[in-house]
Amino acid sequence: MSSNKLTIDIDTHGLISDLQKLIKIPSVSARKQNLEECAKEIVVMMKRIGIDAELIYFDDYQKNSTPPPPLVYGEVKSKSNPNGKTLLFYNHYDVQPEEPRDLWENEPFEGKVEGNLIYGRGASDDKGELVTRLKAIEFFLKQRGDVPMNIKFLIEGEEEIGSKYISEYLKKYNTKFNTDLVIWEFGYIDQEQKPIISLGMKGLLYVELTAQGASRDVHSSLAVLIENPALRIVQALSTLVDREGNILIKDWFKEVKELSEEESLIIDSEPFDEESFKKEYGISKFINNLSGKGVKKALTCEPTCNISGLNSGYSGSGAKTITPSKAMAKIDFRLVPNMDPALQFKRFEKHLVENGFEDIKVTLIHGEAAGRTALDNQYVKIIEKSANEIFGDSITSISSTFFSTIIVFTV
Ligand SMILES: [Zn+2]
Repeated sequence: MSSNKLTIDIDTHGLISDLQKLIKIPSVSARKQNLEECAKEIVVMMKRIGIDAELIYFDDYQKNSTPPPPLVYGEVKSKSNPNGKTLLFYNHYDVQPEEPRDLWENEPFEGKVEGNLIYGRGASDDKGELVTRLKAIEFFLKQRGDVPMNIKFLIEGEEEIGSKYISEYLKKYNTKFNTDLVIWEFGYIDQEQKPIISLGMKGLLYVELTAQGASRDVHSSLAVLIENPALRIVQALSTLVDREGNILIKDWFKEVKELSEEESLIIDSEPFDEESFKKEYGISKFINNLSGKGVKKALTCEPTCNISGLNSGYSGSGAKTITPSKAMAKIDFRLVPNMDPALQFKRFEKHLVENGFEDIKVTLIHGEAAGRTALDNQYVKIIEKSANEIFGDSITSISSTFFSTIIVFTV
């Protein structure tokens, strides 16, 4: 640790109670539940700290759809440095649904504290991260009466369902959100207490496939005559990847650039404990027996084609001889920089048609491009320096890898 490290008053008690307050509001965006209530609570918290805060409502939403939840906007102008740089924190106040409930050992919307851990939906991703940032600003305002640079907050309520309106909001309120630097919603500390500075994130393309057979489930003796939609879906899925998992869709990688030498070196230098990862997930080997740099490279910068849901026919106990009327699959593709979700979706649709699956209905659920800050961006060195001052050491990663093993919000 460096000798000039900051003395940090983390106000642990206040941090825990504020976080519990937010966890107790079940702001599940998939169900449009308690979103405005949560946004309002955050505005109250921000004002108490001394952050100018307001709700921004978006009125130009598409007709026949429900209005999006409000954004929370917060701002603190630096008194000593009002014309200096501005840092914007992006966070979200919505959470994923808590189901399946029976897998929870604690109430998902309670925020129970046990030792150094707090349990609850949103404790991490993203209410915990938000509260720590609010507390950091509170520290500066209380202890020093000022913030060293201008601070803005953009906190949305639809991140978990694809941030449908965020680009519209940004266009409409572009001056308000104007900033020099954005710090994304999370950040992790590894098992050795080193903070991980992630410079990017993979993107996502989420699609749903539906195959329709007869107008209702029929007796399976009719399978000699009636096409089975479950089989259609399975056959279609099997054309997407080869046995090694390589994506077979034409031009899928067309715009993807090779890693630079510097990026490759950064990946090499990142620590990764293969054995504890395998133990955590109860697996004995990685796909294609990957090891060493191959594992780190895959996590950081390789696209995926993943079946996240498959549903058809009878799956209860015992036998029921039916030919189902419908089959459905959900697929998520992780995207890397330069892959445009809209273009990749077109390529996906084309792939199905060219392989004889034009009867399968394809729906785009959501698409989000990958983001990556260049290693030579002026702020990277500044952030690394600050992290090293506080923690003694840090890890720079070119892209976040979502290690759930270390996504633990510690208070
Ligand atoms: Zn999140």
